[in-house]
Formats: sequence, structure tokens, C-alpha cells
Amino acid sequence: MHGAGDVRIENVPDPQIVESTDAVIRVTRACVCGSDLWPYQKMEQSDTGRVMGHEAIGVVEDVGADVRTIKRGDFVIMPFAFSDGTCTFCHDGLQTSCIHGGFFGTTEVAGAQAEAVRIPLADGTLFPVGAHADDALMASLLTLSDVMGTGHHAAIIARVAPGKSVAVVGDGAVGLCGVIAAKRLGAEQIIILGRHADRIALAKDFGATDVVSERGDAAVERVRELTGGYGVHSVLECVGLEQAMTTAISIARPGGAVGRVGVPQEQTIPGSEPAFYNNVTVGGGPAPVRAYIEELLPDVLERNIEPGRVFDRTVRLEGVPDGYRAMNDREAIKVMVKP
Ligand SMILES: [Zn+2]
Repeated sequence: MHGAGDVRIENVPDPQIVESTDAVIRVTRACVCGSDLWPYQKMEQSDTGRVMGHEAIGVVEDVGADVRTIKRGDFVIMPFAFSDGTCTFCHDGLQTSCIHGGFFGTTEVAGAQAEAVRIPLADGTLFPVGAHADDALMASLLTLSDVMGTGHHAAIIARVAPGKSVAVVGDGAVGLCGVIAAKRLGAEQIIILGRHADRIALAKDFGATDVVSERGDAAVERVRELTGGYGVHSVLECVGLEQAMTTAISIARPGGAVGRVGVPQEQTIPGSEPAFYNNVTVGGGPAPVRAYIEELLPDVLERNIEPGRVFDRTVRLEGVPDGYRAMNDREAIKVMVKP
């Protein structure tokens, strides 16, 4: 990506082992993330550009001399953040705060919308899958590198539990995975706030019990009507815009919790007063998806959950620029890349 709306496919030098703890993977599947649309809309023009993409599954091609557990030929999930797996935050299961970690697809570390990627701290970062995967399974495994783990994180922070009522703000891939997560964790009522017919249909398939297509105050009123006037126990905020956050806080019932995973586009969190007077807990941030793979992978392999259904378009590398456009125009929910 060279600037807003300017995505090009270019030849760059092959990724190589730089540090002895690196690996290089050949990308089997990657994808375009909703959060890639923020730079797609706003990035300043740059001379060097930025190799985008922070979600991938792939096969290990090479490992550095100090890589111990990851081997050539391993089929692996690449979480969107790299991490050493040994520091105090990794031990706490918060790999996105790893003291040696960082994120793929930044100006410092090249991303996965490519044929191959260099993986720093390979032992801590990569998760070997073991199982052989067909196409449908590939799509679901790919979601464990971000969107499924992120939806799950929102649900955990929002304290989703059996019998609870849940609202999901946002009908993008993360919101849809949030519905899957809420259902998986035993929520009784799952309200999706969204307005795109195809996404709502998928949300219902994933376990949404109610749909609210209104916005702003009307949406708040509608959620209250659906919950006996009080609001929901748990809100998953999967957008990142001010209005979504205001709505999220306003539909939480007193004592409820908001799990925010939408990348915030403002400096401040709105809704300070209602959050305070209703004792609403607001938490969340970049999901430590590396920590969640162990828990979510068996349900993916057994097809108890099918988060891969959020992909409704597949492109080759040459199709990536149009994939961005299609997601930005809300023509596609999420675009998979098959290099
Ligand atoms: Zn760490």
C-alpha cells in the first residue's frame, strides 16, 4: 500500500532469515482485514509503501539456527502479532503486549499479503496445526490468525457466559465471529446490530437470535425493548467508531461489560457518564489470538464452528487491490487471498 486507495502488487526481495530466531513461511492463505481499511482510507502517500497483511496460514520453508520447536514443512497459523512466548505478558496470555513483540504488516515488519513472510520469534509466534486441511477448513483455520480470536476476545472481555444476553455492534467479519463466540460460550440471547442483508443472514446462521438495524438512539431503544427494558449483560464492540462505542455503552445493562476490539479511530472513549452511572465495565484491545488458538482450534477441526464462512470472495495476489475496493465498498464481507 502506497497511500490511501493505492494498493499495488509489486516484486520485492524474497523474505529471508535475518535473526536466528526467525522462520520464513510460504503463504497458503492470507486475507484483507477490516482494520486494513483504515489505512486504505487514510494513509498518507509514501515512497516506500508498506507490505500489508497480518493474517495468514502457511508452510514453514526455512528456520533460523536458534528455532527449536518449529520445523521446515510445518503447517502453521500466523497470529497477527509476533511474540517471544516467554516474557511476563506472554505468560499472562497477553502476547499482543509481548516486550519483544510487534505486529505484521507494519512499516517495520512486512505483511502476509504476499507469497512468503519472515516470521520473527518463530517458536513463540507460530502455532503448528498438525492436521491436513481441505479448502473449507483452510478458511476457518485462517480466521484463527485474527478475526475469530478477536471476536472471542471481545466476548471474554464482555464476560459472556451461559444464559447471558449479548449484543454485537458491527456486522463485519469480527462482529460475525463475535456471534459465533457468544453462542459457543453459551449466551442465551444474541442481538446483532447491523444492516446488510447478507451479513445478517450469516449472523443468524451463527446463532444471532435478534437483529437490530436501527442506528443511534433508535438502536438503543430497540435493544432495550428486546431485553425487558434494561439492556444486555455483554456488548461486543467490533467497529471502532465513536457512534458504535456510544451505542455499545448505552445498550449495556447496569453492571454489564463492553468488550471493545474495533480499532479506535478517536482519542477518547465516549459515554463516560452513562458508563459511570451504570457501573459498566469497558475493556478490550488487540486480541491475544495466539493465546486462544489452543482453545478454539479443536472446535474448528471438528467443525463445531465455521468461522471461515465470513470469507465471501477469494482472489489471487493480482486481485488484492480490487479486494480492498470490494471490502471498502461493502461489496464483500471479507476477502481471502490465495497467492
Ligand atoms: Zn513475550
